[in-house]
Amino acid sequence: MARGARRSSWTAATVATVGLGVFAAGRGTLDGPMIAASLVVLCLGGVIGSLGRARIVRVTESPGASRHSVAEALLANIPDPVILVDRRAVVIEVNPAARALLPALKLRHPLSFALRAPDVLDGIEEVLRTGAPLKTLYATRVPTERAFEVQIGALPMPDGVVGGQPNVVLFLRDLTSARRLEATRVDFVANASHELRTPLASLLGFIETLQGPARNDPPARERFLGIMKTQAQRMARLVDDLLSLSRIELREHVPPTRPVDLTRIARQMVDTQGPLARDRGVVLSVAAEGAFPILGERDELLRVVENLIENAVKYGGSGGRVEVALRRQTEAASGRTSIELAVRDHGPGIAAEHIPRLTERFYRVDVASSRDQGGTGLGLAIVKHIVNRHRGRLLIESVPDAGTTVRAIFPEFEAVEPPDLLAEPA
Ligand code: ADP
Repeated sequence: MARGARRSSWTAATVATVGLGVFAAGRGTLDGPMIAASLVVLCLGGVIGSLGRARIVRVTESPGASRHSVAEALLANIPDPVILVDRRAVVIEVNPAARALLPALKLRHPLSFALRAPDVLDGIEEVLRTGAPLKTLYATRVPTERAFEVQIGALPMPDGVVGGQPNVVLFLRDLTSARRLEATRVDFVANASHELRTPLASLLGFIETLQGPARNDPPARERFLGIMKTQAQRMARLVDDLLSLSRIELREHVPPTRPVDLTRIARQMVDTQGPLARDRGVVLSVAAEGAFPILGERDELLRVVENLIENAVKYGGSGGRVEVALRRQTEAASGRTSIELAVRDHGPGIAAEHIPRLTERFYRVDVASSRDQGGTGLGLAIVKHIVNRHRGRLLIESVPDAGTTVRAIFPEFEAVEPPDLLAEPA
């Protein structure tokens, strides 16, 4: 058989056999590539009447070049790396995802030249020895840290191909994002517990003092009760923010459907926050010409404006002014209009390295200053999720010593004129 034809056979045989394996095993855990591989079997279907090996050979060796190209095209489109090696672990076939992951992979070269993973190479030997499939892990550190689950399975070859010696197919499934999500969840629980434990420990300490040494000391009691109230309020704020965050996350995939006017929302919040700003010597102003309608949830948008003004006053108040501005802008590419809500302060600003992380939960530039100001470290995370739910974008720009501008940009709501039911028919 010509080399090209043989490779086509292998490709088709690989894909078909893996697909059949999944069907036969009936695992019920079909992932993307497996489903794709199984589809090849279906697309070659009709020819594969039974699950017998001889039938697969007939398919792969049939003159229908189009079937081979379908199989190859599908293998090429499987987003996860697939590698086929012979019993000496020499590479026979790879898909583009495998080449992208392991640029050193070369056909007819040992797999170990490109994949330095003893567990995987041992796994291939074991699969050849026992005939049973197995799973192992493969991790890369360079250029980025990634982790893969490698499914290794024997691919029995028909007598006519390489003397019936089995080959081995490796499916690599990227676990990187699943692991990152898991790490984020663990971090979140650890951070939330830590944030709650600190005020709780202080409350318990003061309760013990009030029951013991300060029992008959009214001035001390008053002072301690004041501190306890502050700590309890901090815990309440944290719990409120955690609940808001989880409520917003739950609804994030459901965009709001009612039109609201962002001008009214901004003005209402500027009025509410005015006294707080004045107390801190900050002049708070709003600039908005006319109405700016978007599809939105009023309470959530009030929360966005509130958090952004609060931050500007708390961390940028030394600049003396905080400006809230609304404007309309047209995107050059799509011609769509959007509404930009900008909150600008003239405070100390934020160093560039912190900016990408500010919307992470519990991330603060200066933890002590945030706590002193009653911050929970969740404000901008809440803002980001609300903006996402409104199909908007959040941009943070800051120049050290010149101030910070946070922009929330939403698609404009364009009302469709209701048909004039009273109009005379033409
Ligand atoms: P917090 O509850 O700490 O205010 P946020 O998520 O609202 O939490 O903000 C995260 C951090 O971003 C703050 O702790 C602060 O360090 C920084 N920050 C936010 N807004 C500003 C601003 N306008 N100027 C300077 N720093 C800011």
